[in-house]
Amino acid sequence: MDKINYKSLRMKAGLELHMQLDTHKLFCKCPTSMKEKNPVKSVVRKLHPVASELGEIDTAAEFEYLRDRTFQYQVFNSESCLVELDEEPPHEINPEALEIGLRIALMLNCEIPNEIHVMRKIVIDGSNTSGFQRTAIIGLNGWISYKGSRIPITQISLEEDASAIVGEQSGNVIYRLNRLGVPLVEIDTGILENFTPEQIQEIAYLIGITARSTGKTKVGIGSIRQDLNVSIRNGPRIEVKGVQELGLLSKVIQFEVQRQMKEKPKEETRGANLDGTTRYLRPLPGRGRMYPESDLMPIQVTKEFVESLKKNLPESWISKIERFKTKLKLPDTLAKEIVSSEYLYLFEKVVEKTNADAVVVANTLTSIVKDLERREKIEIDRIQESRFLELFDHLGKRKIMKEAIPEILKYLATYPQNSVEDALRELNLKPLSVAEVRQIAEEILNQQPNIQFEKLYGIVMSKVRGKIDAQEAMKIVKSLMKK
Ligand SMILES: [Zn+2]
Repeated sequence: MDKINYKSLRMKAGLELHMQLDTHKLFCKCPTSMKEKNPVKSVVRKLHPVASELGEIDTAAEFEYLRDRTFQYQVFNSESCLVELDEEPPHEINPEALEIGLRIALMLNCEIPNEIHVMRKIVIDGSNTSGFQRTAIIGLNGWISYKGSRIPITQISLEEDASAIVGEQSGNVIYRLNRLGVPLVEIDTGILENFTPEQIQEIAYLIGITARSTGKTKVGIGSIRQDLNVSIRNGPRIEVKGVQELGLLSKVIQFEVQRQMKEKPKEETRGANLDGTTRYLRPLPGRGRMYPESDLMPIQVTKEFVESLKKNLPESWISKIERFKTKLKLPDTLAKEIVSSEYLYLFEKVVEKTNADAVVVANTLTSIVKDLERREKIEIDRIQESRFLELFDHLGKRKIMKEAIPEILKYLATYPQNSVEDALRELNLKPLSVAEVRQIAEEILNQQPNIQFEKLYGIVMSKVRGKIDAQEAMKIVKSLMKK
């Protein structure tokens, strides 16, 4: 479908990336793990638009009001409190979230304002109990380099995430309050011109991976969300909200450009569908949607503090990926995978402290772990870091074979208190020497002198799997067959 010449269409796009931070909520102490499954009660509210000081009512707010919807908020035992219900003023901004946000802003080459002001931004879909979202600009005029050009990062904000929608039934919208208030960093690019949809997706990836280099952003579904605006020559600006997956971004742009070429587009806000197409949501919001948060004082950011943060910025993931490829000989995809996995820091520790082969370690912490979790429902989370280190230490000392890793992980997840040695003993997975395997094969061969190679190899492997390298076993069986 991609025969479109985006350059001659003068396609322009802007990105807004949202990333949740891995710390407690922004304006209260509630945790952000979102582990509570069942709400303890729910509260019903309605929103009413009020004219501004200039006597105007926001068009988007009026549109929403006319839909006359009721909002039901699910309350949680420890993951929401009176702040989320808008029955208590916000607490002071979470200093850790602010620090992570500032690090991200610095890694994206932003200027840091010396005073940070929390503002209220009108939100009219009910996803905030108060009718506004608290947001603060923490970085300005940044950039990131992409294939030799500088991509402008116009603004970075620290804000509170909205409630997650659970469902809607005949004018009653249900929201969960546990996501409301989760610290979110919003990164806005300037206008991107002369790029293809695929390149814009790459730029989004680059920005995302740079922000994630802090190691303090959340991972998993819904932890990164992208909004964008797209326009073509002489056309209006269309906002598209809620692209949940980075891999979908180029497709959304392609579909949206096609739609704008076919229909006569109107200025509006649209929502991204899972297949990359978009649907109408509401008119674009009016201007002047921000006003100061009167419950909070401005926050001073000293030059000294910014300098100290600058000195201690983490290595960017982009250079980590390069290092893993050159020094540790990881293939490109595996290097990218381990860098963005939740096991990155464990991986680095293992590589530093053990002699285990880095490719095997990376592969274990990505594919094998994922496979065990998905296919066999093994709770890998139950295995402590020290057990992983023990496992890879054994691997480095050739006390276990890489083939035995899945079985050992399963055992360790089932018996988190037990050691790797316990696993080896109970699973009977102590490595066998070449001589021992040769002896096993010879015994079978003595009993069945006319056996085919494949059959013999199969029987041998069923007895020695996980106790010797599969290639090594193959060599032994081959050498015996030649005689
Ligand atoms: Zn709270």
